[in-house]
Amino acid sequence: MEWAERLRQGAALQKKACGKVRDMGNPFDVRLERLTGTAVRGLPVRSTSQELPGQLGITPPLQEEIRKRGTFYLETFGCQMNEHDSEKVAGVLLARGYRQVETMDAADVILYNTCSIREKAAQKVFSRLGELRPEDWPGNHRRSAARPTNGNGGANEGVEWSESWVRQGFGGQRENGPCKSATHGRPIIGVLGCLAQQEGEEIFERAPWVNLVCGSASYRKLPQLIEELETGNRRVTGLETDTDETFETEITRRDNPWRAYLTIIEGCDKACSYCVVPFTRGPERSRASGSILQEVRQLAAAGYSEVQLLGQTVNSYADPSGRKMRFSELLVAAAEVQGIRRVRFTTSHPRDFGTDIVEAIEAVPGICEHVHLPVQSGSTAVLQAMARTYTRDEYLEKIAMMRAAKREISITTDIIVGFPGETDKDFEETLSLLDAVQYDGAFSFKYSPRPNTPSLKMEDAIPEEEKSRRLAILIERQREIQRARNERLVGKAFEVLVEGKSRRENQWSGHTSANRVMNFTSQGEESLGDYVQVKVTGATPNSLVGICHGGAVGTE
Ligand code: SF4
Repeated sequence: MEWAERLRQGAALQKKACGKVRDMGNPFDVRLERLTGTAVRGLPVRSTSQELPGQLGITPPLQEEIRKRGTFYLETFGCQMNEHDSEKVAGVLLARGYRQVETMDAADVILYNTCSIREKAAQKVFSRLGELRPEDWPGNHRRSAARPTNGNGGANEGVEWSESWVRQGFGGQRENGPCKSATHGRPIIGVLGCLAQQEGEEIFERAPWVNLVCGSASYRKLPQLIEELETGNRRVTGLETDTDETFETEITRRDNPWRAYLTIIEGCDKACSYCVVPFTRGPERSRASGSILQEVRQLAAAGYSEVQLLGQTVNSYADPSGRKMRFSELLVAAAEVQGIRRVRFTTSHPRDFGTDIVEAIEAVPGICEHVHLPVQSGSTAVLQAMARTYTRDEYLEKIAMMRAAKREISITTDIIVGFPGETDKDFEETLSLLDAVQYDGAFSFKYSPRPNTPSLKMEDAIPEEEKSRRLAILIERQREIQRARNERLVGKAFEVLVEGKSRRENQWSGHTSANRVMNFTSQGEESLGDYVQVKVTGATPNSLVGICHGGAVGTE
């Protein structure tokens, strides 16, 4: 059978498969998980190498058709937004009949979902792309290096495909799928995300073995782009950013069995002078509140008790539907969904952070008492050069508002040191801001100039050694603050979602509602996914140590 025809039939069969599962009345990610044998709430992540479950009514011919689609390997660089985008990309591919694998060896399609926020991140991606040059995939030999894929996938399957590849030889036609035949026997290689958007077709110049370049603002076109590759196109791009669409998919393949991410706003209109995001992710586009809440209900029905609403500036959310829900109202509505115990949100922009959000946290226990509020610098002069749209004093007013809340709110931040023109005095102001705010955590970075940003042309660059010196001072100062803040909590008890089990007996770990890491001992019967009360017995700068005396506390 011709591949084009086979693809058409496969697509029809795949549609049928999705419809079958949808008929079960389950939320979409569970549907996919059952289909593929990956993470199911409350169970360890399982291999993707399982056969399609017969109980879903998928007939042997359909299983065979889906099997022929091939496999994909997806690796994510960067932030939670990227992680969640990857979950959705994986959903799109799984819905098309691909299976996710854990090693590149086993993949017909290799995708890197990239980050370009800092120079180092971009360099890392290019270095990884360099490892994929065809000379390194010689003849009958394929690399065996396994790379992490957010913890999921089926390694066993890789062995089977690798051997099949070896038998066929480099450049051979693969009997099981169209993918490699479209690229002369090599796997399809795709670059997604921010670096793809930033570098565009330049990536083809630097790495001619890449076949797909697609920015996040064009992810809705991904199935179509993949289709073009499947039917023989050598190179395809999706690089438009002028869109008012968000990337909503019917199927999301979630990696975290406890916490479900939901992007509620994409892109950014803030135009900070150092930041590539407005260029790489396009303008702000919010998702309709009804659609978000429907997904939260589906997640709750699937067994998730914690959701995290995501956006580059999540609190700039502007409901495009007639309901015109404010962000704070959306938080409350999500927390009121039956089965949802925790609602988190990140990242907030200081300009749009209002009293209504603090009031929502005060009033609704299900909204986690943690706010990530990037400041970037403690100096108003630097903030102005960064085009951050607030002064030091205005930022501190937001902090005072949170500190006055009835619930203690944990506050974390992002800081850049060595921005062009940052003087010793400016840096001292950043240090004094740390002292004034007493953050519970801070991600701090050296400034690195990025393409397509206004700060690229700014003078007064700070030497690298000086940036490193300032960064080291800042990290040490913040470390001591965190140590003191965590030591205050010794003797108190917190509810912890149990997310990990140590190899050491009776040792567990999880997060408090304020997002603090808790490592604890328990003789109880709890298991992963339970909520337990843990009493703090010790503290380090980055985590709490505790003991749990009881079993799980109920989930309402
Ligand atoms: S708010 Fe500024 S730093 Fe944050 S994504 Fe938008 S432009 Fe970038």
